[in-house]
Amino acid sequence: MRIDIITVVPELLESPLSHSIVGRAIKKGLVEIHVHNPRKYGKGPRLQVDDYSYGGDAGMVMMVEPIFNMIAELKAERDYDEVIYMSPDGEILNQGIANEMSLKENIIILCGHYKGIDQRVRDHLITREISVGDYVLSGGEIPAAILSDAIIRLIPGALTDETSALSDCFQDGLLSAPIYTRPAEFNGWKVPDVLLSGNPKLIREWQDEQALIRTRERRPELLK
Ligand code: SAH
Repeated sequence: MRIDIITVVPELLESPLSHSIVGRAIKKGLVEIHVHNPRKYGKGPRLQVDDYSYGGDAGMVMMVEPIFNMIAELKAERDYDEVIYMSPDGEILNQGIANEMSLKENIIILCGHYKGIDQRVRDHLITREISVGDYVLSGGEIPAAILSDAIIRLIPGALTDETSALSDCFQDGLLSAPIYTRPAEFNGWKVPDVLLSGNPKLIREWQDEQALIRTRERRPELLK
């Protein structure tokens, strides 16, 4: 899989994409991530990428042309399954979308900045708009890192124990059961006996039951 991220602040993506599971997946060659700055197609001597908004609202708007040229350059090299714009008014990211995206071959993720991007980019170049939640961030870079992380950990081989993605929250529509590690007792706080029983069937039943209880308590709408 290949992910091309377009941003005017590439520095914001350096750390989240170089460590832990995502960093290892890149090193193993399971995914390639390329970050591109549309400023190289900016206008004038200062390579401007944004301008005042028509209508006079406060905040700068990212211009069509540099983004158009950046996307055209990438599309000339390969076909893309999706050109995604990270946007607070997009569909809210969930595990289903992450699963779906992890099956794609090439995707572009466009990060907005300032007040956002010229609507014509969204109308003509974007195939999907994704939000990370009902709040506004300063740029699309952290949302792009969130989306990339959610996708990459699902690529076979990215997690050392692949089954661990299957027992994560939302993967089966439920929240996951509580988890514990050694010691079995600390400060008088005990790990539930059943987890120490060594009986896989009982443990499984307990985990299923706990997942259901937790989901009912915290996210009852998931059970509908
Ligand atoms: N004026 C816009 C917000 C711009 S925030 C509005 O009111 O909708 C600047 C950029 O940050 C956006 O272009 C988008 O790429 C990114 N961004 C901000 N919040 C986001 C969110 N919740 N999900 C995804 N991207 C977001």
